[in-house]
Amino acid sequence: MEQLMTSLFLDNADYVLLDADNYLENASVLIQDSRITAVGAGISPPGNHAVEWIDCQGMMLLPGLINAHNHVVELVIRGLGKDLNTEEWMKAYVYPINKGLSDEDYYAATLLGCADMLRNGSTSVADLLPNYVRFHAGPIVQGFQDVGFRAGVALAAATRSLIDEKEVRAPEEEIRRARDFLGRWQGDGLVRAWIGPSGFHACDPQTLRAVKEVASEHHTRFHIHLNETRFQLNLAQENGYVGQIAWAADSGLLDQDTLVAHAVWTSPEEIDLLAETGAQVVHNATSNQILASGIAPVPEMLQAGVVVALGSDGPGSNDSMDMVAELKAATLLHRVHTLNPDVLSARDSLRMLLVGGAQALGYEPTELGRIASGALADITAIDLHNNPSINPIHDPVSSLVFSGSGRDTRLTIVNGKVLFRDGDYPTIGRDRVIAAARQLKRRVAELTREAA
Ligand SMILES: [Zn+2]
Repeated sequence: MEQLMTSLFLDNADYVLLDADNYLENASVLIQDSRITAVGAGISPPGNHAVEWIDCQGMMLLPGLINAHNHVVELVIRGLGKDLNTEEWMKAYVYPINKGLSDEDYYAATLLGCADMLRNGSTSVADLLPNYVRFHAGPIVQGFQDVGFRAGVALAAATRSLIDEKEVRAPEEEIRRARDFLGRWQGDGLVRAWIGPSGFHACDPQTLRAVKEVASEHHTRFHIHLNETRFQLNLAQENGYVGQIAWAADSGLLDQDTLVAHAVWTSPEEIDLLAETGAQVVHNATSNQILASGIAPVPEMLQAGVVVALGSDGPGSNDSMDMVAELKAATLLHRVHTLNPDVLSARDSLRMLLVGGAQALGYEPTELGRIASGALADITAIDLHNNPSINPIHDPVSSLVFSGSGRDTRLTIVNGKVLFRDGDYPTIGRDRVIAAARQLKRRVAELTREAA
């Protein structure tokens, strides 16, 4: 049966950011099914089939924001335990609550997290499911699919634990779990199943290598935290390595299908290893500041040709999934660190988010992270007209990064489908999002009462 083509015409936006370096003024975008088919001033939709027409006057269209490292369901505990150190916080909140939540809770948390990301202009995410979360991967994948979000969902493996030994499993069980997960969820273009062990602190090197091999057999991606903290660096050095990236390279974990979160405590020789292997890095500027983890050598990595993307990290350690805020945080962090206002420009950060982000999600940068004919239709529209906080606009990229906010988002389109528009979520409905928030508040209150 012939599928009826659906078209969206985004008419006459004040600005259309094509990528980090180029934009048009007073231009329109035509979407047919999942792809952008025309961009420019004076284009019009074809007359031979139904077109949904969206007036974009007073808006800026930009490629959908790509969040390359997150733990979405951590949002259930955001704002809790903010005066504890990381270990106390993990012990008091992260583990007991993650352990106590049900499949239904994890599904609700995924809907709420997608709603949060969409209303902040994000259209895709790399989401790592750590510790007890990994036992609920099914409802989380289902949540992303029901929303229509673009996601790489990375399943952890844990054979050791710093916090709670009850979460660890035997290596054979973790390898089987990795195989089952990839076997079960392969084939959906939008939501892709990955493998994503938390790191050497949570899994022995032999099991890490084994689950990396499972990922390679399934031609999928591998996501891992490396060199996030000084503690992680020490762990590598106690094992005879200059750092965790050298350890990962020696363990057979680094290649172009590997996405490394953080890479804060990374030596020049390890930057060369990243460049040689083609592994990509996700920089989490806000999370690294909140947890006082350190400053990743991002300008040096870019200089060496390493692909760097941007991530929010989990809302437990960032509390926000606003990737516009993340653009500003990344830009400022390296300026103050080097005392050089020229070390990273607004465009450099946007390029990391879009071009690095596309590659971090496993796409060609020609396909994702830009507004161009033939690219996937992931688009965000932010309000300029009714928005004194961003006006007057002299340079739209500079305005977005330095004055903008993800909350300025009016419209978010993923794969050619409207997922957020003027406060509502057409695929799941605002009521379900509100109900999810209520359910999770109640469940966390019950679980913290039980633990006390
Ligand atoms: Zn993380």
